[in-house]
Amino acid sequence: MLIDSHCHLDYYTGAELPQVLERAREAGIAELVTIGTTLEQSGRLPDMIAGQEGRLWCTVGVHPHHAAEAPIPDPETLAAMAQHPAVIGIGESGLDYFYDRAPRDVQQANFRAHIRAARLAGVPLAIHARDADADIAGILRDEWEGGGPFAFLLHCFSSSRQLAETAIEMGGYVSFSGILTFPKSQELRQIAGDLPADRLLVETDAPYLAPVPFRGKRNEPAHVVHTAKVLGEVRGLTPEQIAELTTANFRRLFPKAA
Ligand SMILES: [Zn+2]
Repeated sequence: MLIDSHCHLDYYTGAELPQVLERAREAGIAELVTIGTTLEQSGRLPDMIAGQEGRLWCTVGVHPHHAAEAPIPDPETLAAMAQHPAVIGIGESGLDYFYDRAPRDVQQANFRAHIRAARLAGVPLAIHARDADADIAGILRDEWEGGGPFAFLLHCFSSSRQLAETAIEMGGYVSFSGILTFPKSQELRQIAGDLPADRLLVETDAPYLAPVPFRGKRNEPAHVVHTAKVLGEVRGLTPEQIAELTTANFRRLFPKAA
């Protein structure tokens, strides 16, 4: 069994979602985490997944793209939302200097609020990092030294080896998406092969970033199988072994889902 540690189930229509979940079940995806991207939408996720306890989980947070659309949430507000039994993490938050949809100082303040919320709530933060490696690492270290430890993962990892190693040093986890399967991702596969085995996760980021052989099509959680297969190949592990490894890692990182 595999777990899709990061997807966006609210991006499917009400008619599509039952089929998407059924195909995931048939593909052996036992659990899925659907991700908060704005405060308002995050508040709706527990209701959306109600009745599927132990199979569907969610997080609460404000994506860097949306950081300037509303006041930055207080860490206390986010931590209070994370008290719901279905909410197992904070995020996604972080920095995206590729699209720059919000001013960078606003993204940074938003990212820091989420780190503090993760620390307060005792749950991990799902970090979105794009073209912002130095500031991601700098803020992680600054918050760690200033306020104490917190758990986190770098979701949909496609950053530098250096950022991965910084995260590992701080006890962080690294989650690989369909990008790992793309022909041009040789360097990413090398990084995935070199990181400590006990820090690896897999995800789809569905409906985005479908892995080979579905590249360019709309993604869905069932396809995490293909990313896991490639991760297994670079690690020299069978599909069963990589499923066992990434599931154990997921449960260690997300204690509320254990
Ligand atoms: Zn993201």
